[in-house]
Amino acid sequence: MNNIKFLDLQKINAQYAAELKQAAADVIDSGWFLTGERVASFEKNLAQFNNSKHIIGVANGLDALRLILKAYIDMGIMQEGDEVIVPANTYIASLLAISDNRLVPVLVEPNLQSYNLDIDLIQQAITPKTKAIMVVHLYGQVCWNDKLVEIAKSNNLKIIEDNAQAIGAIFNGTKTGNLGDAAGFSFYPGKNLGALGDAGAVSTNDDQLAERVRALGNYGSKKKYVNEFQGLNSRLDEIQAAFLVVKLKYIDTENQYRRQIAQRYLSEINNPNIILPVPVASQFSPAENKEHVWHLFVIRCEKRDALQNHLAEKGIQTLIHYPIPPNKQLAYKELNHLDFPITNTIHDQVLSLPISPVVTNDEVSMVIQALNSFSA
Ligand SMILES: *Cc1c(COP(=O)(O)O)cnc(C)c1O
Repeated sequence: MNNIKFLDLQKINAQYAAELKQAAADVIDSGWFLTGERVASFEKNLAQFNNSKHIIGVANGLDALRLILKAYIDMGIMQEGDEVIVPANTYIASLLAISDNRLVPVLVEPNLQSYNLDIDLIQQAITPKTKAIMVVHLYGQVCWNDKLVEIAKSNNLKIIEDNAQAIGAIFNGTKTGNLGDAAGFSFYPGKNLGALGDAGAVSTNDDQLAERVRALGNYGSKKKYVNEFQGLNSRLDEIQAAFLVVKLKYIDTENQYRRQIAQRYLSEINNPNIILPVPVASQFSPAENKEHVWHLFVIRCEKRDALQNHLAEKGIQTLIHYPIPPNKQLAYKELNHLDFPITNTIHDQVLSLPISPVVTNDEVSMVIQALNSFSA
């Protein structure tokens, strides 16, 4: 039997083992573990990669989003009770960042083809309390268009990107995480750019916001023992930054490899019971097709659980992103009465196939064969 893991983190990091071990050894020998030169290097390298004016390393992706909103509140741009529009099918962290700041998440249905926020439904969700739209580039696909920008502009809304799943994706020449007013990145080990522990970053071109986020993530302090704001402790540490400096060098190559796997899945899976993801057609660079970095390759099937069992019997591990939508979670009782038919369909039918920089072509062939042999 096969043994195809959904995501083999051991194998992914083994590719760079020598460099990673050296990076860790250098930090240990330096005796300097927080707010040092590795964090500064990673911030500089990521800013260059993303063409962002400011990158601020933080403890994780959730904190990146929390700190952006906290900074806007601290700066008087938002206040408690204000509303933030967010896709109903996102990972719960997007909502947690909003509600933790005593802002109100307003859920909007996704588009069933792209799985991303349906931009055509935003206008009707706007109220006098709406202050921001949080777009999520879900599964690694860009969620952006001119209409989104127009709605934000005409309603004076900030656009915050949850870029946790899409580092490296490009819309019309601009990387995700540099499209809106501010963005949160996650370097959770399973993300396309994964640290060896928790890590995250905020990206923005706004000088004031950048300065405030940096202070708020460091006890509200710009100068040691001088506290201007009531902050948090949410810093990227030197050892994770050192690992990320190594792995950032390979992200484009790894994302390109993911695109190749995705291309094979898209052209070779031909089972009528399986609905393939529909990447947004690239109007800007069709030859390059850089609007997607395939963090996840998500298919749909009405008999999803049977399909997952069929694959498991053949030694192929799959996961569901995500089994329960945020509005049905106990954590959000106040949203439990809401009903989102498209979101429900997605959560009932989606299945994520193995895709990563270390899935081999033979393994991809086996997955395709197993999928095509499934009869509902
Ligand atoms: C992973 C993820 C986050 C949170 O990132 P952490 O680093 O795990 O805190 C937020 N939003 C989305 C869409 C994610 O996938």
